[in-house]
Amino acid sequence: MDDSNRIILLSALQHYAYCPRQFALIHIEQAWEDNRFTAEGNLLHKRVDAGVSEQRHNIRSERGVLLESRQYRIKGKMDLLEIEQGDPPRYFPVEYKRGKPKVEDWDRIQLCAQALCLEEMRNAIVDEGALWYWEVRRREHVAIDGALRQVTQESIAGAHKLLDSCKTPPPIADKRRCRACSLRNLCEPDLFRRDQTQAYIRKLFDA
Ligand code: SF4
Repeated sequence: MDDSNRIILLSALQHYAYCPRQFALIHIEQAWEDNRFTAEGNLLHKRVDAGVSEQRHNIRSERGVLLESRQYRIKGKMDLLEIEQGDPPRYFPVEYKRGKPKVEDWDRIQLCAQALCLEEMRNAIVDEGALWYWEVRRREHVAIDGALRQVTQESIAGAHKLLDSCKTPPPIADKRRCRACSLRNLCEPDLFRRDQTQAYIRKLFDA
């Protein structure tokens, strides 16, 4: 079902990038289960949202900024937007995360999607942003470059396509990711993989 009015939440893109099955369980099947990681993440975002806007020298900081892109059909909220006064002004999005920096692009994709929204809403170019990690208490600067834009646009398109299909895909192969997943109990990836293996063996002998 192609729903051209559907809008995907920015936070959902991170689910899709982490595991398309997790994305489908949450956003198609409406399944959710909090674990320690998600509870800590919610608490962190509440604290960040509670902050007030402020001006320091030539930089204005705005918190909990609402975002939307009609082109990509995505929307959400930005933790922190730093605006360096100038002509034109420079926009610098900052997203807060509870964990630590990751090799994979999951968090960077969400940040880049924020940048895409900002560019559309403020008619600006956003070339850099940052992820702030609670566990290590530091910022990771992220270039919003061509490669990140491409992987982000692919994730957005993939997430819309998956919602159109209304079908939950099978578990991913990366078992380490499953061990840290908040939906592991609902997903039952090992059971699913075992069933698939048994079905495959049955097919071999039936052939
Ligand atoms: S348990 Fe694994 S396959 Fe299942 S949703 Fe989580 S990451 Fe995806």
